[in-house]
Amino acid sequence: MVAEVVGLGAGSSRFRPGERAGAAWLARACGACRFCQRESEYLCLAPTFTGWDTDGGMMTVHEDYVYRIPEAYADEQAAPLLCAGIIGYRALRSSGLPPGGKLGIYGFGY
Ligand SMILES: [Zn+2]
Repeated sequence: MVAEVVGLGAGSSRFRPGERAGAAWLARACGACRFCQRESEYLCLAPTFTGWDTDGGMMTVHEDYVYRIPEAYADEQAAPLLCAGIIGYRALRSSGLPPGGKLGIYGFGY
């Protein structure tokens, strides 16, 4: 989801109220399981998900899972990138694809 930051929790400093930001499908990872420990938090054994474990788009989310949205993207263009786009980006990074190479992704959608 893409929304305006309306407030900050204790210890939060990455955003300011009024900024536009996006929260991805992965709302938070546990940080302790074997997948989180090897920086594969997308495989976390105890994750929470936006809209599944939280109530839709009006929510409190940890700032580590919130992203600045470039002005060039309208809300409806940016929102799909926070789910399907991240999955595709992870596949690209994991593949070791050389510059100019081609990557096939199956089951990709939003
Ligand atoms: Zn974990």
